[in-house]
Amino acid sequence: MRGLRASAVVVAIVLLTTSLTSGTSVPAVAGPSDPEPASLVTLSVPDQATMERLVASGADLTERVRPQADGSIQIDAVVTPTQLAGLGSLGATLASGTPAQKTPKSGAAQDQLVIERAVWFKSRDGYFLSVEASSNAGAAAVLSASWTGRRGSSGQAALVPYVDAGAYLGHQLSTPVPAENQPQWITVTSAAGGKAEARVKEWPDGERPDRTGPGYQKDFVSQYMPPTQLNERVKALHQRFPKLTDIITLPNPTNGYRRHAQALIGTVPGAAVVVTSNAYGSEGGNDLAIELVNPGAADRPLQVTVNGKQLTVSLATDGSGTPASTAAQVVAAINATPGSAVKAATYRTDAGLGVMAPVPLTQLSDFLKAPAGVSRAPWRVLALRVGVHRDGSRTGVLAYAQEHAREWVGPLVTIEAAERLLRNYPRDAATRELLNRTDIFIVPTVNPDGANYSFYDFNSQRKNMTNHCPAQQSDPALRDTWGVDVNRNYAVGSLSDGYFGASANCQSGTFAGPAEHSEPESRNVVWLARTYRNIKFAMNVHSYGGYFMWPPGAYKLDGRVTLPRPTARQEAYFLRSARTIEQAIAAERGTVTWPQQTGPVTDVLYSAAGNSADELWYDHGIFGWDFEVGSDLWNPTTRKWEGVGFQPPFSEGHAEAMEFASGLISLIGVAADYREP
Ligand SMILES: [Zn+2]
Repeated sequence: MRGLRASAVVVAIVLLTTSLTSGTSVPAVAGPSDPEPASLVTLSVPDQATMERLVASGADLTERVRPQADGSIQIDAVVTPTQLAGLGSLGATLASGTPAQKTPKSGAAQDQLVIERAVWFKSRDGYFLSVEASSNAGAAAVLSASWTGRRGSSGQAALVPYVDAGAYLGHQLSTPVPAENQPQWITVTSAAGGKAEARVKEWPDGERPDRTGPGYQKDFVSQYMPPTQLNERVKALHQRFPKLTDIITLPNPTNGYRRHAQALIGTVPGAAVVVTSNAYGSEGGNDLAIELVNPGAADRPLQVTVNGKQLTVSLATDGSGTPASTAAQVVAAINATPGSAVKAATYRTDAGLGVMAPVPLTQLSDFLKAPAGVSRAPWRVLALRVGVHRDGSRTGVLAYAQEHAREWVGPLVTIEAAERLLRNYPRDAATRELLNRTDIFIVPTVNPDGANYSFYDFNSQRKNMTNHCPAQQSDPALRDTWGVDVNRNYAVGSLSDGYFGASANCQSGTFAGPAEHSEPESRNVVWLARTYRNIKFAMNVHSYGGYFMWPPGAYKLDGRVTLPRPTARQEAYFLRSARTIEQAIAAERGTVTWPQQTGPVTDVLYSAAGNSADELWYDHGIFGWDFEVGSDLWNPTTRKWEGVGFQPPFSEGHAEAMEFASGLISLIGVAADYREP
């Protein structure tokens, strides 16, 4: 199984329909303290090298990656105007329209073709075909597929080569193509003369574990839920079903939805000072204020005085009474003042040689916009344990969501699944069997601080809220770039182990953190695996793009050396289980997870160094799966697949929650049937 993965950025930049600014107040006039607005765009990269530069540049890539017919790849990303301009200088060009097919090489020897997989599926939008094939001529081969199907239907489409980290992994249809009726036979031909034929099989064609009876209840989520609501729901479920649940408070409190208060004073660039409170804004930092004053006399020294919450900097003057203190001198004077309650720094890479002008009294702020009811304290992440026998004697299943803060649908998937299990227990025999045979651990939000920031401050927040950047990267306009990518902070196949797909740059979208397991969010997930040794299955719920994945999830770039592959038997088990679970997802509203997006992470998405599923599988022997909920939607007018975004209109988010909750319950069914080998 393989899929195409991203490489490169470029181009044309299609603004997606998702609003990135709802819930965020945007100042009418942006100042130097304001973050640049970010947009969710579709980029196109021409080649692997560009993609790697893109990752290294700290681009905030989504998990939706789509190959194009010319071998380039489109990927959705969250970018600011400055980042976009920088991406252009990486050699990217604006894409326009559908790329042309490469012309076949003339005179090439006839090649050998192998059809790896040819499947059809029927979604709510009709029949689609997916084909994967390989040529011994490698990526240079020009392949096309033609098919015949029921009722005299037929069609043809080009296959595109998939080259990842320099390795040719085969050709495939870039996306599933529509077919008038059920395809039955496929012929793949090469411009060099190679030819292969196969019968087209059904996908996912899984077993149907959904044995729920009449009267089964579902649909328990009515809106996107920020962390406070999620915790309330978990507690309410425990109160209502005390005999079937426990609440587990995970041991590592997060840093909390809080930041130090700051002010950027002076003129950028050259004569500016960044002041940062020692205390968090909510713990007194927001009460501080600073002013720079002209003493009104000649030959005065630079002086700093503290008066309660107010810091007054009296600038030095020259012989004519003109202020003469440079930014660097003001910084040094503030930092040498006992009791100032702040630290000062020059702006970014400025040497601070510019002379500071007087600045009126300026209040420091943590810039956080959530209402006061949203706790600023370190957050206790909750797990809801569900089952009749919660004593370690049953096969454990862990479902955890929102490692990435902006993925608002994931928590709904877990809450909907928990509600279905508990509410149907009294009335549905199949549900009773699941709760008798398994021990379920549900963590609706792994990263509540980041989630709050996504809900109230910056929709596109991916990481947690903890700033590990040095002073030069910590002025307030950069606050949307701080944080650790929780799903790059684990210890297996990590950045520090030499694996690809995470960054050491504290502003990167995939910043791995200062060390493996540096963040409480990742330590909580590991703690669950270590503490409850009966956990054998885990589902890491992400969005978006419609994937079902398993290890390995990382490789070393040089030679594309992946973490060890599962054995053939394990691989077969992963795939068989995936098809069962995907069948359950499709039963909800006809959403079929694409075959080329079902498989190991490294093959179907991209390398993600230090992700949690790898740690669970390699260190704990847990079948560690990943959902990317939010499959592309087929647009019958444009006849193209369209991405759904992180925060689609709730009607779509709700539908995704319903279908992937069905998938999660199907996974619990797989776990209930599991027997130790
Ligand atoms: Zn994610």
